Amino acid sequence: MRYENTLAAARSLDAQDPLRHFREQFIFPKHTQTEGLTETEGLTSSKTLSTEVRYLCGNSLGLQPKTVRQALLDELDQWAEHGVEGHFRGKLPWMHYHKFLTAQTARLVGALPHEVVVMNTLTVNLHLMMASFYRPTPTRYKIVMEAGAFPSDQYAMESQVRWHGLDPEKAIVEVAPRAGEDILRTEDIVQIIEKEGDSLALVMFGGVNYYTGQFYDLEKIATTGHRVGAKVGFDLAHTAGNLPLRLHDWGPDFAVWCSYKYLNSGPGGPSGAFIHERHANNPDLPRFAGWWGHDESERFKMKKGFRPMQGAEGWQLSNAQIFSFAAHKASLDIFDAAGIDNLRAKSLQLTAFLEQVLMEADGGRNLFKIITPLDPAQRGCQLSLLTDDRGKALFDFLASNGVMADWREPNVIRFAPVPLYNSFEDVFILGEKIKAFGRK
Ligand SMILES: *Cc1c(COP(=O)(O)O)cnc(C)c1O
Repeated sequence: MRYENTLAAARSLDAQDPLRHFREQFIFPKHTQTEGLTETEGLTSSKTLSTEVRYLCGNSLGLQPKTVRQALLDELDQWAEHGVEGHFRGKLPWMHYHKFLTAQTARLVGALPHEVVVMNTLTVNLHLMMASFYRPTPTRYKIVMEAGAFPSDQYAMESQVRWHGLDPEKAIVEVAPRAGEDILRTEDIVQIIEKEGDSLALVMFGGVNYYTGQFYDLEKIATTGHRVGAKVGFDLAHTAGNLPLRLHDWGPDFAVWCSYKYLNSGPGGPSGAFIHERHANNPDLPRFAGWWGHDESERFKMKKGFRPMQGAEGWQLSNAQIFSFAAHKASLDIFDAAGIDNLRAKSLQLTAFLEQVLMEADGGRNLFKIITPLDPAQRGCQLSLLTDDRGKALFDFLASNGVMADWREPNVIRFAPVPLYNSFEDVFILGEKIKAFGRK
């Protein structure tokens, strides 16, 4: 469908948006502009305007929910009031804190409650999952992953391979776009997994690629990986909170994600982990253990001999980082109220509008090319623009005009209108700023 690209039309779409009130639950950074600077006879008069930025980088760090401040204060009060007894007393006893996040997390990623746990941070969890699910043998030792994965994932795979005494050059097989193309073809992913077949220990894929914004066919990847006898894991850093997921049905062995991007839990927020229920009751699965993963009925007996909890909780190491979990919980409450399917319905419109606005704003100048798939089923909310030597100037122009996007070296600008707090007006304004770029 074509959208009418005017301020009035954008505002009217916002007025009809059933999720519009969620925007009010977030704090937007301010953009300060100095206007009308005049110098007359040594006198300087200026007017400083402060407006909310048009925030289009929720894929990088989500905005702060207004409820987070109180949630953190509550935990400070709990600590002040109860000291160590805070583990057992108060509204949300710390001892069980990770459990208060489980039901919402399971709904968000389409898992059974005992398949998910919030713990640690993302790259840490990736390593923990690899310890259990990357078990190379002399003949089955390879990992298939996407070329151009987020660097932390590349380093994690490489160091895991070396830790097993193997050579990353031989053990890691990357699926790359075909010559002249920007995104991966599912058929190529499938073909490479099948070709590696018996030599493949693990298929490790992102959900949405951080750079291109491509959303992969996760079900197909999981099925294909399993068909050749490999384990399958997903890094959903750019997917959780962006797209509805059905992890239990799609069937990967594990998945991990962070909570500070689309999930708005604040810098360094905790990670989530999914372990499919087929592994829930296998205490023999190798893992790196800690006391919080031990059978909780005797966790405080301080006995020798690790006995894991059933399900994902059995992978925990440490007691919960209460302050970051509290922020995460405040944000998950909002997601749960909005509903990920409702968010996706709005997101489809918002990003379609963005696509149209970008093309119209470019106006034949060829400032950029959208490398994110144009098929909405193969993307979340983000659109990535490949630019040329004008790209950084465009990005800086937007920043100085109150539009906060995000720049990825060497030459990509990412815009992520998130359905929870972005509006059609935000997108419209972005288009107007791009139109103004380079014009006097
Ligand atoms: C953001 C991101 C990370 C960051 O990892 P942390 O351990 O949270 O610092 C890792 N992998 C991917 C795919 C990401 O998008």
